[in-house]
Amino acid sequence: MVKIIQSPVTPLHVQNDDRIGIYQKIAEAMTRGDFGGNIPSGNDEIGQLGKSLQKLSTYLQQQVERNQLLTRIMLEINLNLRIKDVLNHIYDSFEQLIPYDRISLALLDNKGDKLKLYWVRSNYKIQKLPTGYSSPIMNFGLNKLIDNGELCVLNDLESYYRKHPEFHSTKDMLREGIRSNMTCPLISTGTTMGFIFFSSCKKNAYKHFHYELLLQIASQLSIIVEKNKLYKTVRINKQLVEKKKKLEEQVSHDALTGLLNRPAIFNIFHKQLLTAKRNNFQIAAIMIDIDHFKKINDTYGHASGDTVLCSVAKRLLESARIHEYVGRIGGEEFLVILSPCDKEGAIKAAERLRVAISSREIGKEGHLVPVTISLGVSINTANTSDENQLLRQADEALYLAKNNGRNRVEITAP
Ligand code: GH3
Ligand code: MG
Ligand code: MG
Repeated sequence: MVKIIQSPVTPLHVQNDDRIGIYQKIAEAMTRGDFGGNIPSGNDEIGQLGKSLQKLSTYLQQQVERNQLLTRIMLEINLNLRIKDVLNHIYDSFEQLIPYDRISLALLDNKGDKLKLYWVRSNYKIQKLPTGYSSPIMNFGLNKLIDNGELCVLNDLESYYRKHPEFHSTKDMLREGIRSNMTCPLISTGTTMGFIFFSSCKKNAYKHFHYELLLQIASQLSIIVEKNKLYKTVRINKQLVEKKKKLEEQVSHDALTGLLNRPAIFNIFHKQLLTAKRNNFQIAAIMIDIDHFKKINDTYGHASGDTVLCSVAKRLLESARIHEYVGRIGGEEFLVILSPCDKEGAIKAAERLRVAISSREIGKEGHLVPVTISLGVSINTANTSDENQLLRQADEALYLAKNNGRNRVEITAP
């Protein structure tokens, strides 16, 4: 801070030239942002000039410090993207620059006729206007601000309310003890999105330079509110896409085993057969049925039967290759489509699946359940009419596998 040095002892006329030289140096130092110089004064005219210079120095120093603080706060605000973090930061750091007992931010609804308090903080217990408070815009008396986008300062809310008793929110503010209020609209691409309010319990709290600061704060906030809106839209879109994906998954997958369900695997079968016909390659269908599954249910209970079903499904899926589609088409019946696949490959694949189930017992609550499957394979030929024909042939092969002793693979002659 600048100090004034009174020098009454030395005759002033002797010092005049010195003081003017010092003032000159001090003024130059001030242009460089250095406010540390000692300013000699006195009661003569030059001394009065020194006093004025000192006042100017103090004022400029305050301005510089204020600007530095503002720049620092704005930088930190820009680092934050979450609107609530930004508002908390403003509340915690603007005290030195603007007087307030309460700061709040209200957003307009999509139609623009209702205002909702999105965020509020105060140094007293909020009773009348908490976060979530929502009211038609006309109750706030802010319609004009929406239209002209200007800042509104009310330094005597009591007298304002006497003139405008229709503004319920002003009444609520007064009840909370607020006496002065500054409101600034948050505008993005010409549209008012909401308002920021700085409120004080003191009358006449707001001066001109406070307005300027609020305008700067509001312009930063507008950008952040807009960004948050965009992020919200992106987030909602993402959630919708995920929900759609989940729904599609539910529609096409079996709830118990997670495998493709009957319509889904049949759909794949139909499409793959069309492609195979068009491109002249072979595909195979393998019908699978768990052997003596009824016995497993009867011995260990239906719940254990379900666990066995899930384990079988998991093993089938794990041993299937990339071009092999596994679905559950009935209680303990599965269908695997291999596309493309020739006769030899189909038998090999079926054998691989059979071994995947029979090679290890399935564990269930301390029990080890031996499980086997029977498999019936069919391959398409130039004469194959549709997938139903292939299914029938695979079913016939499965019947054969059952009759020939189960836990085996059979194939119909193409
Ligand atoms: P096979 O070797 O001849 O196929 O004999 P199996 O006992 O497996 O054949 P069957 O058709 O007689 O019995 C199938 C059993 O599968 C009957 C039914 O209760 C049971 N089942 C069907 N769906 C489910 C299910 O979702 N969970 C459980 N736990 N059991 C099921
Ligand atoms: Mg069966
Ligand atoms: Mg069975």
